[in-house]
Amino acid sequence: MNIIVFISELEKSIEQQWLTLLKQNLVNETILLPPQISDAQVKDIDIAIVANPNPKDLARFHNLVWIQSLWAGVERLISEPPNSPVKIVRLVDPKLEKSMAESVLCWTLYLQRNIPEYALQQRKQRWHQLPSISSEELRVSVLGAGKLGLAALAALNKLDYQVSCWSRTPKQLSGIKNYTNFSGLQSMLGKTDILINLLPLTSQTHHLLNKQLLSKLPKGAKLINFSRGAVIDTQGLLALLDSAHLSHAVLDVFEKEPLTTTSPIWSNPNITVLPHISAPSNISSAVIVVAKNIKRYRKNHVIPAYVDVNTGY
Ligand code: NAP
Repeated sequence: MNIIVFISELEKSIEQQWLTLLKQNLVNETILLPPQISDAQVKDIDIAIVANPNPKDLARFHNLVWIQSLWAGVERLISEPPNSPVKIVRLVDPKLEKSMAESVLCWTLYLQRNIPEYALQQRKQRWHQLPSISSEELRVSVLGAGKLGLAALAALNKLDYQVSCWSRTPKQLSGIKNYTNFSGLQSMLGKTDILINLLPLTSQTHHLLNKQLLSKLPKGAKLINFSRGAVIDTQGLLALLDSAHLSHAVLDVFEKEPLTTTSPIWSNPNITVLPHISAPSNISSAVIVVAKNIKRYRKNHVIPAYVDVNTGY
């Protein structure tokens, strides 16, 4: 039987849940944790299944052909690749896409319907009706039109928002205006009431959303970050919230997670903090995707679609 190494920095009980289901779905494979693998066995291991691993833990497995990530975001693996020829396969799971689309709708409605403002008013026992804006009048733009971006765009489109998106390559999308390149991004931001970030973290997107770029958003615009904290320059964002140029930000992801207890973000009334929950990998559905990828590879040596190291995603 082939051995697959499973490497994660997950809590032990969660790691065990993944292992149990992986073993049930891959009965012809032996899935082991690194300490269970002898030095003699290492050279025969061609696949690693990983969940945000410490790249140093992967270094021992020098004959890997591909790595299956259990997460959709793989920036840590890309920035510190274990060895150059190994291919990195991120999790692509329709269940994850649906979950992100639900989160995008939920938090867009939260901002559209002024829920943060009403929560503050309640604390002050203030009875005051704020102006309401219909979905047809609201311009919602999504950064990224990949697996998660497209699912989010389709959901927004169904509720009749004025939807736009920005991607690296041009797209033809029914009912959605697509922008590309930096000038396209600036132009889209100028026509955006709610901006949703679903860009992967790469060398090109690191701190892309800085103070200068975010200030292209109209006064009072709102932001949702569901991809990675470091796509946003936090200091720039805080300055724009303090000056009321931006009115609210929903942040699910941060440069350092968990968010440190001393961070001023916790108590900022114009920020809603979420603990990285917008689209968690679903163990049951993800394991089926992973098992399918591995069985196909064993049968015909086809590596699933993998990350392009030049673009970083
Ligand atoms: P994806 O399928 O790879 O799509 C990435 C999108 O971003 C594509 O549309 C791509 O453009 C665009 N893009 C990348 N670099 C760009 C650049 N420099 N300029 C313009 N557009 C650029 O990724 P995905 O599956 O949608 O996932 C996106 C991210 O969501 C992941 O990387 C991960 O960080 C995050 N995520 C977060 C959670 C959570 O719970 N918070 C859960 C899962 C994933 P093209 O279409 O032209 O290639």
